[in-house]
Amino acid sequence: MIGVVSDLRFMDHETGGYHPESPLRAQCIHTLFIREDPGIMLVQPAVSPVEDIVLNHGRSYVESIARAAGRGSTVNLDPDTVCCPDSYEVSLQAVGSLISLCRMALDRGIEAGFACVRPPGHHARKDRAMGFCLFNNVAIAASKAIRSFGVERVAIVDFDVHHGNGTQESFYADNRVLYFSTHQYPFYPGTGALSETGTGEGAGYTVNCPLSGGKNDGHFLAVYRHILQPIIEDFEPGLVLVSAGFDAHAMDPIGGMRLSSDGFAAIAAVIQEAAQNVGAPVVYSLEGGYHLGALKESVSRVVEILKGNATPSIEPMPFPELENFIRVHGRIWPLAAR
Ligand SMILES: [Zn+2]
Repeated sequence: MIGVVSDLRFMDHETGGYHPESPLRAQCIHTLFIREDPGIMLVQPAVSPVEDIVLNHGRSYVESIARAAGRGSTVNLDPDTVCCPDSYEVSLQAVGSLISLCRMALDRGIEAGFACVRPPGHHARKDRAMGFCLFNNVAIAASKAIRSFGVERVAIVDFDVHHGNGTQESFYADNRVLYFSTHQYPFYPGTGALSETGTGEGAGYTVNCPLSGGKNDGHFLAVYRHILQPIIEDFEPGLVLVSAGFDAHAMDPIGGMRLSSDGFAAIAAVIQEAAQNVGAPVVYSLEGGYHLGALKESVSRVVEILKGNATPSIEPMPFPELENFIRVHGRIWPLAAR
């Protein structure tokens, strides 16, 4: 049984008529879960207490979002990021829902989880909203799992086409949370170079795999097989969180990658295999993905993988940048041995 949070209340974060991060994303995904499915437990959204949000964000920043929402009209937090009157409440529900799924997965009430929430989170910094993100859902959930759920180590896997600068920053000096990202580079937000590998105790625990545009299913699969899987199996996290952005899809209007919906499923299958090998549950949190049809189809394929259904047969396709990833990350992780 897998747990899914999908609810039309996530449409209440309104971004304006022409914004790619539109309420229709939540509505479109929700159509996947209207019919009852014996393999899926639909979990009610939960509101996060502020005490959990401040595990990752400054209290004055959290209060500033509450105040912005309280103005009664839509406010621009940065050129891309808006806060409407319902945004604060919806953001608390995005975080709370993800944390609920994490708790259920760690208690083994569900085998895996998928929080189909918005606003997304991975660009949100401790004291700043950016890139459509208000609170960093995944970073907060990782901190909560360590603080309250008895988890010693969390791995965050981010396959959104953009680099999750906010998440990386939160754990850059922390060896309890490993941050792994594949992303288009150079691209928004500008971070995520191969040389950004963490600092102090966190040295080696940030694993960036920056990719030039146009990469396809086979390229991505090579990175996940040859870099992510051995790292997860060596790091042995108690929980794997996935920043699941679907904007590396070939149809996406923002990203410049060529992944198919089956490609996302193949990536999800590698994540599942690695996590199962160390006994860690996997919980997904929606990030980007702006072509509604591609988004819906990709989420559906990934959910099928979580339910244990057949993996699409896609062969890993090694490419020159992969050698650089192995050289740099292989200094810390057992990559060369495979
Ligand atoms: Zn993105």
